[in-house]
Amino acid sequence: MSEETLFTKIINGNIPAEILFEDDHCICIRDINPQAPTHVLVIPRKPLPRLVDATEDDKALLGHLMLKVGEIARELGIERAFRVVINNGESAGQTVFHLHLHILGNTTFDEGSLGIS
Ligand code: AMP
Repeated sequence: MSEETLFTKIINGNIPAEILFEDDHCICIRDINPQAPTHVLVIPRKPLPRLVDATEDDKALLGHLMLKVGEIARELGIERAFRVVINNGESAGQTVFHLHLHILGNTTFDEGSLGIS
C-alpha cells in the first residue's frame, strides 16, 4: 500500500491544520505558507496524486471541487477577484502529490503573473 499523503494525514486528523470547510468529498484548509493574504487549499478526500491522474470516474468530484471553490471564495469575501492554481508535476511546482486547488485572493495580480511560484 502506498504511503499516506500529507493531506490524507490532515484529513484524518493526524496532522493539525486550520480547516475552514469540509464535506463528504473535500476539505478546505489555510495554506501554512501563504503566497497571498488569503491562500487556502481545497483538497479532495480521494488521494489523486495529480490532476492528470483523474479519470472519467472523477468527473463529478472535479465539478464538485470547482463549485466549492466558488462557494469558499464567497465565504471568504474574495469572490470579486481570486485565482485558482493547480500545480501538476514537480517541474510545475507541485510538492504534495495529493491533488489540491490553491485559492489565492485579497491581493492584486500582475498582468501575466501566475500569482504563485
Ligand atoms: P503544491 O506546491 O502545489 O504541491 O502546494 C502544496 C502547498 O501545501 C504549499 O502551498 C504548502 O505551503 C502547503 N502546505 C504544506 N504543508 C502544509 C500544512 N501542514 N498545512 C497547510 N498547508 C501546507
